[in-house]
Amino acid sequence: MNGLYLRSPLQSSLCTTLRKYTLSFRFDSYISADVVVVGGGHAGCEAAAAASRMGAKTLLVTHKIKTIGIMSCNPSFGGVGKGHLVREIDALDGLCGRICDKSGVMFRLLNLSKGEAVQGIRAQIDRSLYRSNMLSELLSLPNLTVLESSVESFKFSQSGSTLEVSGVILADNKIISSKAVVVTTGTFLNGTINTGLEIKFAGRLNDEVSVSLAKALRACGFQMGRLRTGTPPRLNKDTIDFSELTSLRGDPTPTPFSFMTVEIPNAHNQLPCYLTYTNPFVHQIIRDSLHLNIYVAEEIVGPRYCPSLEAKVLRFTRDRHQVWLEPEGILSLRKRLQLRGCQRTFTGYDTHVIYPSGLSMTLPEEYQQRIVNSIKGLEKCEVLCYGYGVQYDYVDPRELKHTLETKRIGGLFLAGQINGTTGYEEAAAQGLVAGVNAACRVLERAEFVVDRSEGYIGVLIDDLVTQGASEPYRIFTSRAEYRLSLRSDNADQRLTPKGIAIGCVSSARARKFMSFSRDFELCKQKLISTVKNMKEWRSLGFKVTECASGPRKSAWDLLSANFHLTALLEKLPELEMEGISPMLLRTLNAEGKYAPYLEDQRETIKLYKKDENLLIPPELDFHKVPNLKSEARIKLTQIRPRSLGVASRIPGVTQADLASLFRYVCVSTTN
Ligand code: FAD
Repeated sequence: MNGLYLRSPLQSSLCTTLRKYTLSFRFDSYISADVVVVGGGHAGCEAAAAASRMGAKTLLVTHKIKTIGIMSCNPSFGGVGKGHLVREIDALDGLCGRICDKSGVMFRLLNLSKGEAVQGIRAQIDRSLYRSNMLSELLSLPNLTVLESSVESFKFSQSGSTLEVSGVILADNKIISSKAVVVTTGTFLNGTINTGLEIKFAGRLNDEVSVSLAKALRACGFQMGRLRTGTPPRLNKDTIDFSELTSLRGDPTPTPFSFMTVEIPNAHNQLPCYLTYTNPFVHQIIRDSLHLNIYVAEEIVGPRYCPSLEAKVLRFTRDRHQVWLEPEGILSLRKRLQLRGCQRTFTGYDTHVIYPSGLSMTLPEEYQQRIVNSIKGLEKCEVLCYGYGVQYDYVDPRELKHTLETKRIGGLFLAGQINGTTGYEEAAAQGLVAGVNAACRVLERAEFVVDRSEGYIGVLIDDLVTQGASEPYRIFTSRAEYRLSLRSDNADQRLTPKGIAIGCVSSARARKFMSFSRDFELCKQKLISTVKNMKEWRSLGFKVTECASGPRKSAWDLLSANFHLTALLEKLPELEMEGISPMLLRTLNAEGKYAPYLEDQRETIKLYKKDENLLIPPELDFHKVPNLKSEARIKLTQIRPRSLGVASRIPGVTQADLASLFRYVCVSTTN
């Protein structure tokens, strides 16, 4: 794994930044902070940045500064569902969208042939660039200090009948007092990694493990479990024969993740991915070596949606599985252009590492090498570092409120993989919500909750806190009830005003949002007020049919009849919308296209909100509610739903239980 990060430009720029940081840090007191964030992974970076944007004095404590923002597995962000999350994080001024735009080497808008609701941006990311861009961004934040250390335990204080966190204890026994702590320790709690039958303690390859902190969390009484995941071997690009493989290129005009990005730096330097396949010979190697594979024998649950090659071979009877060869950075391009005498400067770092997506495995090294060399294009391929598996403790997310604060201990927040999720985007989304709420607690502001009807962030958190995570949780668009409203193009319309209200959005973004919203309304009104009869539309080439709305139609109506806005703009220069940004065009088109359905969905959401607004008093004793089934009583007592709506989504709580609960809450709250 070391070999992946030995590129000198990063090392030197990182060292300079670290030297600067160390200097400033000497003068900085870290005896107390408003918010302490534990862990500098994807959840930790967003949590620390969000708390600091809110104005809370924030300290990020992490094992190694050089691993801040590191992508432990795949060098890519986004996709369908995950891309929606990145957009929503960005709408709340989170970091990962902007950092991806700055560090991406290949961008694609997925599902273009389907509706806007299920289209998502995915990008291959230059791993080193992402890390260094994230570090620079964090170090530029005004209220944030970063400390390289390990948090071993917590300090508590009693407030009335509740226990509250009052700080953290570091490995050198120093105590940092704080009013809120956000724990984002990823795969590090009691982490073990393995290749073949060999197991060692580590949170990741070449990283330490968090044993004391896991013990401290258990001592708090949290329900904890164990999950696992794995990563594929990394390959030397120079030893791969790409000539017979299918290539996949990025979009000629990439769609950025961030609403703030004007231009993607690598838009014209995009790298291709290549497709190859496993084969029956590879599958036989796996079947013949099951005795060398502890994961196959073990009961610990792994990621269903990102299974290891071993799991795929055992689960499916297919002759072949896809393997995508994904670049980890942009060396070859630089090299190629240098060879052609091109002197351009690139915003990336040299790498010849290829990530073979779909080849996650934990077999002994010699078997991994044999498998790799049995795949087309990889016959002579050198493995730079071998795949491995990781097992770790996680906390049952039903221990959490929707703010991601734990129910047992005031001021203690958990975010990321520690809550049973998998993936950078899921971790980052939780980090942002936990960071904002930690700051809200300190600054005595109202709590910040994203509802299921407002965003995928809401769907993710609501699923976790009501249903728990018996296997690593990943977001999908199919998990959302209100998909037409929760599109990636309108994430800012849904969430930026919420972010502005709570105080986590910068004034620059707020200004850009206001100006976008003004333009949107202006263009929408132009489309609504451009009305023609059927004959006129037909003469312009739009084959409209008459319908209930009458003989005249507006340009806006035509969008919902599946005509694209670009076609309308071409034929109607009087709309004066030339030069409209691709982002505005996409949102107008989607809003117009889905307008009738969105109206229906708004009505459904109103009904759903009625149940969400029926609040259950936090101190309610469910044992006193008559006629509840015992399963419902146990689950309700364990999860303590905030509303009748949340209670209705807890598995095991029936309609009859809800009716009893509703009656009891109405009577007890009116008395
Ligand atoms: P992490 O990114 O793991 O960050 C945790 C941070 O906390 C680290 O910086 C660590 O140093 C720090 N830390 C831990 N304990 C302490 C402490 N006590 N004191 C101070 N700092 C501490 N996701 C997928 O979606 N698909 C995959 O195929 C996949 N495979 C993976 C394979 C491997 C081997 C690993 C390790 C992860 C994989 N992931 C995968 C998961 C992905 O990496 C995580 O979902 C994501 O990184 C989680 O982000 P996080 O912020 O929760 O934790």
